[in-house]
Amino acid sequence: NAKIIDGKATAAAIRAELKAEVEAHVQSSGGPPPGLAVVLVGDRRDSATYVRMKKKACDEIGVSSFGFDFPEDVTQDTLLACVGELNSRPDVHGILVQLPLPKHIDEQSVLQAITPSKDVDGLHPANVAALCTGRTRAPGQAASWQLKDLDFHVPCTPQGCIELLDRYGVEISGKRAVVLGRSNIVGIPVSMLLMHRDATVTMTHSKTVDIASVVREADIVVCAAGRAEMVKADWIKPGAAVIDVGINSVDDATTKKGYRLVGDVDFKAAKEVAAKITPVPGGVGPMTIAMLLRNTVNGATRAAAAAAVAAAGGGSAGSGLT
Ligand code: NAD
Repeated sequence: NAKIIDGKATAAAIRAELKAEVEAHVQSSGGPPPGLAVVLVGDRRDSATYVRMKKKACDEIGVSSFGFDFPEDVTQDTLLACVGELNSRPDVHGILVQLPLPKHIDEQSVLQAITPSKDVDGLHPANVAALCTGRTRAPGQAASWQLKDLDFHVPCTPQGCIELLDRYGVEISGKRAVVLGRSNIVGIPVSMLLMHRDATVTMTHSKTVDIASVVREADIVVCAAGRAEMVKADWIKPGAAVIDVGINSVDDATTKKGYRLVGDVDFKAAKEVAAKITPVPGGVGPMTIAMLLRNTVNGATRAAAAAAVAAAGGGSAGSGLT
């Protein structure tokens, strides 16, 4: 019977740590608190809910949040102008454009307009390159680097997956890891993180043949396919750690709403085989927002450090990502 990896409790513990960090930062820098700008386009109910949750989490730990809401028919130029203004605001350390954007907007153009040091979603090509080229491990740095010490932004959900493995004592180095899904937001970055932490990583996707036998080899399984309960108990190697990123809604007439949320893993059966497993909801989900807060706080502390170096007459500090 697996140990349940409690993402809700872990995220709460991280928020408490960050709250203390924010207080210390405000005291020592004498500047504004860390600030997150959230850009929301249109009236998708799920996006509005996510934005509300993000703002609430900011309030809890003393991070300022600034909302910028635009109608569905906003022009790309208007959005780019908004991002440009936020790039230069000293009280904004993180800029998040809630995805998806309407079809008439080129998502990549908007994401690329964000200054990489404020790109708390970690989706700007400069941050993606830093992740892919192994900037996760500076020369001479131990393999057991801490995510919180990186000098660029790692996407939040993948960061949350690794944090859960770390905090639940799952050894990554040398292990076989299998990732389901190859999206830019989850599958690819989580694979990169696992690889840089010295796991042997196999990426699987919708065209993988006999995926069950690939998953059976995994000491660590990260599921981000968005397919309700596709991973069965007999796919799981006994003793494996299972991180379920999937959020899928399935009809359920017995619930008030008429549906319920399930992950990509058949949780009830898989927890009899795995050593450690995340539930859905209450696993990776809450971690995503906690990592967004961490990226924002990191953005503020890095900006303050760079400003201190500049004030002392030094050259540029930090990552060089501006
Ligand atoms: P996506 O649709 O962009 O990508 C899905 C990936 O899964 C694709 O690469 C595809 O090749 C692969 N895939 C599809 N069917 C498959 C199959 N049968 N077998 C193996 N691979 C298959 O989705 P995404 O944005 O990466 O999200 C994945 C899931 O994670 C979704 O359920 C999403 O809701 C959830 N999600 C959760 C969080 C969170 O905070 N917990 C954050 C982001 C995404």
